[in-house]
Amino acid sequence: MTKNRLIFLGPPGAGKGTQAKILADYLGIPHISTGEILRKAKQEGTPVGLQAKAYMDRGDLVPDSVLQELVRERLQQTDAQTQGWILDGFPRTLVQANFLETLLPEINQSCNLAINITVADEVLVSRLGKRAELEGRSDDTEEVIRNRLVVYGQETAPLIDFYQKSSNTTLVTVDGDRSLEVITDELKKLTA
Ligand code: ADP
Repeated sequence: MTKNRLIFLGPPGAGKGTQAKILADYLGIPHISTGEILRKAKQEGTPVGLQAKAYMDRGDLVPDSVLQELVRERLQQTDAQTQGWILDGFPRTLVQANFLETLLPEINQSCNLAINITVADEVLVSRLGKRAELEGRSDDTEEVIRNRLVVYGQETAPLIDFYQKSSNTTLVTVDGDRSLEVITDELKKLTA
């Protein structure tokens, strides 16, 4: 069987993180969330965290160079090399996607699947508002949420077209406006 190496696309609030985590557990491979790595770095006050903080708090993207170094290092750790991975939240810009295309062959890896989870904008805003109440993330205020959606449309949505044209990675679109379990089942079938 080919090793599973997948990326998750989709706007904030689409359920990427939740599904990526469940699927990674099910497949027994690392779940690599750049958002989680950055939040932890921020909490711990590491140099990367200090650099990322202002961008994250505004709902802007952290500079590509920071993310590239982080991903280059993480994908070469033993678990990722031997088991495969799910990348959640990366790539988020065309620069990052091109970087990944170059990096993977250099480290003898390839990405077989890009999963694009789609959800209508009104649903996203309401979901993110609820999450803000539950988790209290500093980037979950209404103004910042709206900015994250704008940034998604400008910077990340073009990746759908990028992966549609890619000959290495197959793009699959999944309707994210359904129950968690139904979506998980569909993802399990896609990666079987
Ligand atoms: P969500 O998908 O809910 O927007 P994430 O947890 O994936 O949130 O990311 C939170 C924040 O971390 C982003 O708004 C951004 O500031 C930063 N971030 C995460 N991944 C990247 C990336 N690949 N490039 C730039 N910034 C990123």
